[in-house]
Amino acid sequence: MLLGPPGAGKGTQAQIIADRLGVPAISTGDIFRANVSGKTELGLRAKGYMDAGDLVPDEITVAMVKDRLAEPDAKGGFLLDGFPRTIAQAEQLRDSLRELGQTLDCVLEMVVEEDELVRRLSGRRVLVDGEWVQRDDDKPETVRHRLQVYREQTAPLSGWYESERLLTRIDAIGAIEEITERAMGALEACGDRRPDGPVAG
Ligand code: AMP
Repeated sequence: MLLGPPGAGKGTQAQIIADRLGVPAISTGDIFRANVSGKTELGLRAKGYMDAGDLVPDEITVAMVKDRLAEPDAKGGFLLDGFPRTIAQAEQLRDSLRELGQTLDCVLEMVVEEDELVRRLSGRRVLVDGEWVQRDDDKPETVRHRLQVYREQTAPLSGWYESERLLTRIDAIGAIEEITERAMGALEACGDRRPDGPVAG
């Protein structure tokens, strides 16, 4: 699982790492955005929270992830990006994985200082239907609020996973390829700690 504040580069790294490991990247932000553009019921329920930079309520988010993890492509492993984001989500994830006979092997925390995050997020543009646009929730006021939500609700997961001995922190400043190498190295080290051997490499 990738843990880290908005703008740390989780989405970028999740795609690359998942590709290398041959597992699906499961990004709750991407699933929500797809549902918002598709105007599904889930999307309509999530949109207001997302636009405000708030977390979508746990019951909606957890049910969505449970369904996703039960899909056949996640049986051989998966990479979580942007989930869990609260201690309650982490507890429910642990229970769901237990039911599925899976375990979380490794949590990588991508560390970037806050000034750099603000710079990255306010300058970020995403490609939508051939055009580069700013995400509504990357507007300056919303960015500040999302970082506050991260500090209050998500950052405590760092200590939680540390006490579960699953956490590795990596410096997430540098070139994309450099950060991928740091992440892959950290994942291999997690794999070596598993009773059934390495997860990566
Ligand atoms: P992201 O692309 O990961 O920054 O997610 C965009 C938005 O989707 C967040 O600001 C939240 O509104 C919502 N979201 C994504 N993941 C979660 C989650 N695990 N729990 C609650 N809301 C989430």
